[in-house]
Amino acid sequence: MTMISDKDIKNFLETAPIYTWIEFPKPAINRHSLSIGAIDAFCETCGHVRPFHDMRSRGSGAGLPSPKPLSNGTSYFEFTCVTCRKERREFLVEQIFDEK
Ligand SMILES: [Zn+2]
Repeated sequence: MTMISDKDIKNFLETAPIYTWIEFPKPAINRHSLSIGAIDAFCETCGHVRPFHDMRSRGSGAGLPSPKPLSNGTSYFEFTCVTCRKERREFLVEQIFDEK
């Protein structure tokens, strides 16, 4: 069984249709957030697939201000095309945890 990784989250955001659920085994080491730094997506302005990065400022150090373990709730993602810096992709993901 694979544990949820940044790659899994990236793949989910890139490929899952809207309103899709996916299950992952509970990670042995809990993540503090589902946030990841980048995805690849089609950019309407550039006309092809480009890297999109999360360009929001994170204060000092990624993840440090929120040491709470990941729990039920929602995660917001915002990525901007690194080439034109105009196109943006936003996602709101609902996460539900149980013992497994
Ligand atoms: Zn672009």
